[in-house]
Amino acid sequence: MTYRTIFGPIPSRRFGTSLGIDLSPGKKQCNYDCLYCELAAAKPVESIENPPSVEEVAGELKRALTEHPDIDVITVTANGEPTLYPCFDELIDRIDAIKNGYKTLILSNASTIDRPDIQKSLAKFDMVKLSLDCATPQCFKKLDRPLSNVDLECIIEGIRQFRRLYKGGLILEILMVKGINTTEKEIDAFNRILPTLHADRIDIGTVDRPPAYPIEPLDYRSLHAIAEKFDPKLPIHIAARHKTEEAQNSFSESEILSTLAKRPLTKVDIETLFDTETMKRFEKLLAEGKIEKKEAGNLTFYGTAFSKQKAKKSS
Ligand code: SF4
Repeated sequence: MTYRTIFGPIPSRRFGTSLGIDLSPGKKQCNYDCLYCELAAAKPVESIENPPSVEEVAGELKRALTEHPDIDVITVTANGEPTLYPCFDELIDRIDAIKNGYKTLILSNASTIDRPDIQKSLAKFDMVKLSLDCATPQCFKKLDRPLSNVDLECIIEGIRQFRRLYKGGLILEILMVKGINTTEKEIDAFNRILPTLHADRIDIGTVDRPPAYPIEPLDYRSLHAIAEKFDPKLPIHIAARHKTEEAQNSFSESEILSTLAKRPLTKVDIETLFDTETMKRFEKLLAEGKIEKKEAGNLTFYGTAFSKQKAKKSS
């Protein structure tokens, strides 16, 4: 069956198998014009013009769920920013009425998160993923190129407020672009702001599809080196979409433990970083209980300091 507003299912290691809803089918409509956007460059807009009706989306979703019952999550997205959809709240209520136990996820650029009505609507999702590529206005303007009425301070305060009311999984995503948001100044600013946002998970990724503008991606090792500069208490996850290079790093047992003490990693991160012999040492340390597992934002992380952190929190 073909659909205008439904796509997938698409397997994703971060969220499982996802059925997507596109609220701007066929045309990019976004209030940002990010340098790294995988859609073609386009002038930012205030709202989605000629959107599909709530009836059309709900009808297609109902049929698609019957056709693809083996999915994990329904993902609301757009060729652009889904919260610009004019009947956003009504649509979510319709999706909730027909989702039949499936989890719901929205991918938003966070530009409207300071609006109480949007916060209320987003709170109906099981998981909310918000982009936060920059911690300073200069970087934000250069990298995400938003409409002039979008203000980074309002976004950050909006995320803070949203976290206070939202009980579901809040995931932040930072897409790293060499020389723009990878500078010491930007990471320092992130380290001041991110601990106040209390996200369940913070995904750090890089460009892995042809971008709208000529920019440089980072390789996995550089991404990992940047991840190490973030506050170790943050739930950072290195979200490289493809394993692009063979792992060649050999670590001794003590090096494995000190790496995971600084930064908990997912299994895929670990397999991308460690060579075969190091993986055997990792498995041994895990079996000995020197490495622990913890669930965060739908992923399993491996680290060494979880119980210490817990003890600290409760003391
Ligand atoms: S927010 Fe997303 S859709 Fe909009 S320009 Fe940026 S990457 Fe593209």
